[in-house]
Amino acid sequence: RSPARRIDGKACAERVLAEVAEGVRQLASEGVTPGLAVVLVGEDPASQVYVRNKVRQAHTVGIRSLEHRFDADLSQAELLALIDRLNRDPEVSGILVQLPLPAHIDEQAVIQAIVPAKDVDGFHCENAGALWQGLPALIPCTPMGCMRLLHETCGDLTGKHAVVVGRSNIVGKPMAALLLQANCTVTLVHSRSRDAAAICRQADIMVAAVGRPGMIDATWLKPGAVVIDVGINRIEETHDGEHRTRLVGDVDHASAERLVAALTPVPGGVGPMTIACLMHNTLIAARTLHRRAASL
Ligand code: NDP
Repeated sequence: RSPARRIDGKACAERVLAEVAEGVRQLASEGVTPGLAVVLVGEDPASQVYVRNKVRQAHTVGIRSLEHRFDADLSQAELLALIDRLNRDPEVSGILVQLPLPAHIDEQAVIQAIVPAKDVDGFHCENAGALWQGLPALIPCTPMGCMRLLHETCGDLTGKHAVVVGRSNIVGKPMAALLLQANCTVTLVHSRSRDAAAICRQADIMVAAVGRPGMIDATWLKPGAVVIDVGINRIEETHDGEHRTRLVGDVDHASAERLVAALTPVPGGVGPMTIACLMHNTLIAARTLHRRAASL
């Protein structure tokens, strides 16, 4: 069997970003510049990288970004007060609170405090509920990016059996909702599933969002499957006496590659799509808020 096609997330993200930049230009002609407020609490190194990338990408598509950085000892009340200000600020179209938050802050309390119209991560329960009911919603960026990659790779997904490994509110559950909306038969596998590998072997489409490096190898996969590897795991390695970190997915690419039809790389797969979709959501939020204000 020829090796799997590599699904190029970077190239696809560039296409999404070009569409967003065009949308931002159109909105600018109506006198509106989308604004993305990015909130970072603490010093988590991965979060620092994500925030830096998000802010940089916003600038490249013409979105104004407003950074709010705080030490890890920021109180929950102070953070909620900031969210309240951002909710009411007409310059802010999207609010992103980088997760994880320090342990003394209740993440759910913060997420639910964001006004749903500015919830560009799509984590608010109102957006989550609207997604499951097929109503207009801001959709979580990572699953949205995965869907775009799947449509570009497979076209119509109708009737395919999609298995999502992982059931988080951020990835697994909204991914399942989107696949269902695209007429797939959807199975969710999680840490309490029995015979997880056997279920996964039935998947025409496999989405791995577990957070366990290389857990899904060829024995979990159906020949010819299309595989989206959402996992981003940092592996510490010592090579020729040199210590370094390497990013790997949840899929064991060396073994999967010989079996499946197509596969997203890590890095360069889902990661760039997540950021591009965040820009897309910020544009949508800005447009919706503008239209709503204009109709008042
Ligand atoms: P969570 O830790 O919130 O969820 C992990 C899920 O995997 C849980 O539902 C858990 O099940 C399930 N799981 C854990 N172990 C097993 C197992 N042995 N067998 C089957 N299922 C298992 O992680 P996230 O959803 O936030 O993220 C998942 C991965 O995706 C991480 O590597 C993360 O870094 C990455 N990620 C990448 C993004 C990107 O832009 N590319 C964006 C967001 C996340 P249970 O519910 O039973 O505990």
